[in-house]
Amino acid sequence: MAGESLIPVREKRKLDMAVAQTGLTLEQELALEREKNPWEAQAARFDLAAHKLNLDPGIWKVLRYPTREIIVHIPVQMDDGTIEVFTGYRVQHSMSRGPAKGGIRYAPDVSLDEVRALASWMTWKCAVVNIPFGGAKGGVICDPKNMSQGELERMTRRFTAELIEFIGPEKDIPAPDMNTNEQTMAWIMDTYLMHMRQTVNAVVTGKPVSLGGSRGRREATGRGISVCCDEALKHLGLTIEGCRVIVQGFGNVGSNAANLLYRKGYTIVGIAEYDGALFNEDGIDIPGLIEHRAKAGTINGFAKADGCDPDELITRECEILIPAATENVITSLNAADLHCRILCEGANGPTTTVADDILEAKGVFVIPDILANAGGVTASYFEWVQDRMGYFWTELEVNQRLDAIMSQSFQDVVAYGETHKVNNRIAAYMLAIDRVAYTTKQRGMYA
Ligand code: NAD
Repeated sequence: MAGESLIPVREKRKLDMAVAQTGLTLEQELALEREKNPWEAQAARFDLAAHKLNLDPGIWKVLRYPTREIIVHIPVQMDDGTIEVFTGYRVQHSMSRGPAKGGIRYAPDVSLDEVRALASWMTWKCAVVNIPFGGAKGGVICDPKNMSQGELERMTRRFTAELIEFIGPEKDIPAPDMNTNEQTMAWIMDTYLMHMRQTVNAVVTGKPVSLGGSRGRREATGRGISVCCDEALKHLGLTIEGCRVIVQGFGNVGSNAANLLYRKGYTIVGIAEYDGALFNEDGIDIPGLIEHRAKAGTINGFAKADGCDPDELITRECEILIPAATENVITSLNAADLHCRILCEGANGPTTTVADDILEAKGVFVIPDILANAGGVTASYFEWVQDRMGYFWTELEVNQRLDAIMSQSFQDVVAYGETHKVNNRIAAYMLAIDRVAYTTKQRGMYA
């Protein structure tokens, strides 16, 4: 079976390789693995925020664990005629404030703990920006880079069929995440509506505009990040002029954030990807780099910047560092080396809890993921609203509404932190938990 049964072997191999590469002892490597467990990271922050809120112990228990966890084994006929079985997850953390909402990712290292953490982050994220959704996430253990379009389509359709009773516009609404895209959403929507025998385009968001997607959705996460950066500069008394930005990850989130910031006049001095990095102290021509990457398939080889080491780049001096790639890139191993004034988290879970403490001691102003990257789900909410109305907004309308929600949410979180004397991350959790706890209590416990 491609998936769960292979994890222990893969994890063991990863640990052996890490021990060989980092020179850490096995105990230190195990401690680092634990530090990187996203579910434990989420739970630690949740517990701290719940404690500071003096949360009712019963509600604490309700909100700490997901409502529903679904595991499916998905048989797929591969192009060579053999049958492979993939393991997929959908975790619905909360539906207290509305239907569950969250992306689906395809990757070889997807795990239930990761999907659980991402599902709960979705609950908190939707509550921070005050939109009427709960939180969910899905993932399939697979290696999408080594699968054909046909194999990906069959896997996506069968995964959707396995989840058919659990998803829907009033139940749980998937969206793209790492290694899934507008095409994946189109397949999910088509499979769902073939079963329902009617048009139901609000079952997914992040789909192509021609199938009921929203204008502005593709850029929305990057746009939300750019609004948070503007607000942070205002809050700290800094200016866009001379503001140096380093972005890690040049995918959907990172490239759109870099491009929007570039257009606003920020100086994007560095871009890090997994296979290389670029630096130019006078600023990188981001539209030029996007064009280069589209042609070359990599950022490497771009003439108007110097190549450098991606791990070292993120430690260089800058006003804003935007990790927009993946989880656990800022840990106890490198947090002390960062030289940024503001950390704006485009990715989900890029910073471990141990690293949080180090950054706080260094005085870094952190814009936490559940606020910074909430522009994506906010535009997904707009898409769901437009689909249900059957009436579609202009890009300007989407952007104006998005900017207003992101600015307000930034101000709410910072004000909450100042009132309760906690950092921005714990403030965002407290604000979110408070909102979800309120509706949970108001609804009461059924039976
Ligand atoms: P993506 O797959 O489009 O882009 C990720 C990019 O990061 C890729 O270019 C990849 O090569 C690069 N990358 C991967 N690991 C790296 C590493 N260790 N160092 C440097 N670069 C690395 O994915 P995306 O949609 O841009 O999502 C990125 C992150 O943002 C994820 O954590 C995702 O959960 C989060 N997020 C995405 C959205 C969205 O709307 N797409 C919304 C909220 C949060």
